[in-house]
Amino acid sequence: MKPVNFDFARPSDLPAAIALASREDAIVKFIAGGQSLGPMLNLRLVQPNLLVDITGIAELKRVEETPDALELGSCITHADIEDGRVPDVTGGAMRAVAAGIAYRAVRNRGTIGGSLAHADPSADWLSALAALGAQAIVRGAHKERQIPVDTLMTGVFECSLESGELLSGVEIPRLSKSARWGYYKHCRKTGELAHAIAAFLHDPDRSVCRAVIGATGSKPIVLSDASVLIGKGPDHALDRAAIERAMTGHGMTDPIEQQIHFVCLRRAVQQAYRP
Ligand SMILES: Cc1cc2nc3c(=O)[nH]c(=O)nc-3n(C[C@H](O)[C@H](O)[C@H](O)COP(=O)(O)OP(=O)(O)OC[C@H]3O[C@@H](n4cnc5c(N)ncnc54)[C@H](O)[C@@H]3O)c2cc1C
Repeated sequence: MKPVNFDFARPSDLPAAIALASREDAIVKFIAGGQSLGPMLNLRLVQPNLLVDITGIAELKRVEETPDALELGSCITHADIEDGRVPDVTGGAMRAVAAGIAYRAVRNRGTIGGSLAHADPSADWLSALAALGAQAIVRGAHKERQIPVDTLMTGVFECSLESGELLSGVEIPRLSKSARWGYYKHCRKTGELAHAIAAFLHDPDRSVCRAVIGATGSKPIVLSDASVLIGKGPDHALDRAAIERAMTGHGMTDPIEQQIHFVCLRRAVQQAYRP
């Protein structure tokens, strides 16, 4: 199958892109890397009248580092992060996550903003950036707002962007030197989307200890005070009953699913505290 006929625009600035997306007489879709949207167009799962290519907008490729955070424009690609073409304020955590996404061809074009906006439950950035405490920066015609990534996704392939809004970037907090990070995902084949994800951050200097259970089939499960779930001994054993209760409370009741996600979380925690 081929896409429906659509018009195409490639604005060079954000106001022009937002103005196009605010049109009420057309179904308008942004396209960034096209890695998720391309197949959806071909399958006619989306049938836009107008496709707005946002990759020519310089502001969406911005990189701004402050003492506390890094702001990345939404069109920064997975490969930009993997190759270190942008600074890393996470001690290598983001580079490793980027390198584990799909195949190099997908990483060359796929963008961090497209991945978040697409809101695939199995996407790596949704879980990793939620665990890192990142904020999504959203621009509309009249205002800019920030949404914590851990609440950005509202359902499968749905996020809290409103019509006419565009994800302009992501703000990632700088981890302290003492921070511990672990990320583990379970895929049946290399390069495919994950069946289970776990991300764990312990940053004692900033009083953060957060775990995220991702690829749940829906929104990631965020355990914002993970310190109570993790033993202080050398093996950092997890409170399995409490974690299972959290999964069940978020609708994950299948024991096999729970077991796979639990093992991913245990491995992420072990990775974080590896000497
Ligand atoms: C074979 C294959 C394997 C993959 N494996 C993985 C994997 O292991 N892990 C993983 O995380 N991902 C994986 N992906 C997805 C990949 O990371 C995509 O790059 C990503 O999901 C979408 O990014 P994109 O820039 O290509 O967005 P596009 O496909 O261009 O757009 C996706 C959606 O987001 C919207 N959009 C894009 N940018 C914005 C914006 N700035 N503001 C608002 N809306 C926007 C579009 O309108 C569209 O609805 C895989 C994809 C393929 C094809």
